[in-house]
Order: sequence, then C-alpha cells, then structure tokens
Amino acid sequence: MNPNKTRTLITRALLAGLALGAFALPAPASSHGIMGHMHVTGWAIENLPPGELRDMLNDPEVKNAALFGAAYTDSGYWPKGSMESQTRAYGEHTHWEPFIQDFVAWIRVNDPPPWTSIESKKRFGFMIGCASHGLQDEIFDSIFLDQVDFHDNGNQDIADPATDGFLSIDGHLRFMPTEYYPKETVLELYQTLNMGITEEVIRYGLDAMETLYVNPRSGYAVAAGFGRQHEAKLGWTRTHYFDPDVPGSIRSEIVPTMHYITALWGRVQGHSAAENPVLFQYPDDGRFLRSLDPADPASWVTIVTAAAAKANFVMPDWKLDDGTPIAFSKHGTHWGGPDQFARVMQLRPLEQLPAGRASTVTWSFNGPLINDEVSTASVTLPVETTCIEGSGACPIGCDARTGITTPDEVGAALGRPASCVAVEEGSGSGAEGSGAAAKKDDGGGCQTSKPASAWGALWFAAALLALRSARSTRRHQDAAAKG
Ligand SMILES: [Zn+2]
Repeated sequence: MNPNKTRTLITRALLAGLALGAFALPAPASSHGIMGHMHVTGWAIENLPPGELRDMLNDPEVKNAALFGAAYTDSGYWPKGSMESQTRAYGEHTHWEPFIQDFVAWIRVNDPPPWTSIESKKRFGFMIGCASHGLQDEIFDSIFLDQVDFHDNGNQDIADPATDGFLSIDGHLRFMPTEYYPKETVLELYQTLNMGITEEVIRYGLDAMETLYVNPRSGYAVAAGFGRQHEAKLGWTRTHYFDPDVPGSIRSEIVPTMHYITALWGRVQGHSAAENPVLFQYPDDGRFLRSLDPADPASWVTIVTAAAAKANFVMPDWKLDDGTPIAFSKHGTHWGGPDQFARVMQLRPLEQLPAGRASTVTWSFNGPLINDEVSTASVTLPVETTCIEGSGACPIGCDARTGITTPDEVGAALGRPASCVAVEEGSGSGAEGSGAAAKKDDGGGCQTSKPASAWGALWFAAALLALRSARSTRRHQDAAAKG
C-alpha cells in the first residue's frame, strides 16, 4: 500500500481513537515531556568533550537515533484500550536500568565496539537516548517535582506538559528526529517481559506518539498550548524550569546526562563503573544548597550513579567543615525504595542547616551495581549551604557549568548556523544566557511555537481531549517491579 495513504489511514484511525478516548498524551507517565527529553539528550551530546564518542554521536544519523530513542521511551504510554497493557509494559521497562543493562550486555556479546557499521552506531545511539530519558525522569521526579509541589502546589499532571510548553514558548526547541529503532534487538530484549511484545505493539505506540506529538507539523505548537494552559498556575515553575541553579530543572539535567552517556560508552567497552560510581552531585561543585529549610526540597543533596545502585548498600556521612555531623534521612529514586536498583539517591537534612557553610558528603558504597560489579568506593564531595535563602547572591560563587545551550555557541562549535533562540541583551547570566529571557527570531527555519495554522489548532484540541482522558496512572506504578 502507498505509504502516504497508509499514514493517512492511520491518522484517521488515531483521530477516531481520540474521539473515543483510545489514546492519551503520556503526560501522567512521562515526567517532563518528550520535547524536554529530546532536547536535554541532544544538548548533552553536543556538550560531550571532544573525542571519539562526541564524533560518533554527532553524526547526523546517530544523533537522530539518540534523539528518537529519547522520545521512543514514552511511546508506550500513548495508547489506551486493547494493546494498552502491552505498550505500557515495553514503555515502562525501557525507562529503567535493567533494560539498559540488558542492552549493554547484548552489545558486548553481539556487536562490541569498535564499530565500522553505521547500524551499530545507530543502535548504540538509540540506547543512549532511552537511557538518557530514563535518567532524566528519575532526576526530575526525585528533585524537581517536589519543588513544584513546594512552591506552586503543583503536581506531575500539569508540570510535565507545562515544561514542554515553556521550552516551546521560550524558543528553545530545535530537534525533531525521524523514526528509528533497532527492531530486532529491542524485540529480543523485550522477551524477558513475557508480554508478547511484537513489532505491531510497538507500531501502535509509535503511531500514536508521532501522529499527535513527535512530528514537525504540529509538535511544538501543541507543546506551546500546554504551556499557555498551565503557566498561570505554575509561577515558580515558569521562572525556574530552565534555571541551571535549580536542582532537577530541565537545564540542570544536561551535565549529568552527558556524564551518564560517557559512563555507558565505558560500560559497552567493559570498563568498570564500580571504581568511580558517582557521576554527579546536586548541588554541583561551585553551586550551593538554595535552602536551609529541611522542608524545602532545595536543601536536599542528590547523586547520580554510573550504574544503578541500591541506596541500602551506600552509607553516606554528611559533616560540616568543623566536623559537626548533619542529621539526614536517605532516599532512593522517586519511583522505588532504597532496596531497588536506581540511578539516583538522595539525602534530606532533618534539621535547619547553618547559612554560608562548607560541608562534605562522603558516599561509601558497599554492595552490588546492576552490572554485577561490586563497588566499595568511597567518594567525598563538597556541599555549600546558601547565604541567602533562595538567592544566587552568595560569595561562594556559582561558576559551575550548566551545559551550553545557547544555539550560538553550539552552532559555532558544530560549524553550522545558530538556530532560532537568541538571548535578550542584559538579561542573560554570563555567556550562557538565561533561558527564561530567550526570544525567537525568524531565521534558521525554526518552527513557530504558536498554533498558527488550522492544523496546529486541530492537533492542540485533539491532544487536550486526550490529556483529559488520562490521569495519573504512573503514580500507581512502582519502580520496584523493574528493579
Ligand atoms: Zn518517561
């Protein structure tokens, strides 16, 4: 059958399905939205240090595979109805490190690097996209959503689509991959689910996601509609969703994602993750805890690990610079307990913190990682407490990297024109600018972020209808099942 005709029929079927509530935007299940995942992953790839990995992942086909992997991970959350349990099963599984570790093991057995084939590189790129998405969900849900609740009394149902919308409204969106996934490999890996995951099941999820959202025709406009719908309720979130100083913000995910990509590149080559198990700590070196109040999530310290670990096998110790211990509670990822394998773990102080003080956290590992290594590493990292609650004005200074995201810089680094974001003069914070102050210009072939066309309005209406039909299934899911 003519592929265009096929697509038209699929589109009609999807719209009919929408009218019946058979599909849903994946907002309740996707943490921050798909646009955010694709872009944090793309920015992380562009910010890798010069070398073989950066060169490979910046190949246009390989980068496309990675960006699509970052979208694919949520594709299973879209359908409702007959195939819903199967699509959700592959989607949820794809988020977590058991799947990523299976994928790493598959590559090491069946197609270890060095690679000459573009297919091998694309397969790795796709895995990087899935892995980055899963990590970003763990970070956002374990750190940022608690701040949305604390400041805006908001929840995931609105914070997820809204942050995609703010990225669109603020002109940050520039990636839109085309479909790619390594079919044989993922179908083989999904056999462990015993859920009968077939090509048709995946097709069902991808068609829904691509028709309604991940497409160059209407995706950015639909996202912008979500932003406008929710921004009045999310004042703090609107201001800080892209603030590199705010732990768990979209922009704060770039550097840890970059480190995780590098760690996975090591894992497929058989390098140890156990020797240096901590990839990143919030607050990053050079930043500080934004709050002294133990009730404020901005007083929490969170690490990202090089391979999933169990918080129960890590003994942290938090001390002020004069040796005074700080009382804390220890937590695993948002979606699992401390006995589950996860890439994120966290300390929350149990007492008011002193202002303007240096402290250290020592993370002592003594147990297994998900790749069957045992880590006994002990990692000590600095944590500075803020001088002024909620403020960036602290003599400690904030020179930590944010992940370059100004397209001027990225464009120059990659030898191509800048894309559509420009930063208003006088409103940026140094060379990297300020996301909230960004504006669009009309160059570079950028998409409009407004639903200006009839198509845009149609898709936005369809997506809103879908959004209202599905709520909060994810909070009943348990990462434990995946651990
Ligand atoms: Zn997700």
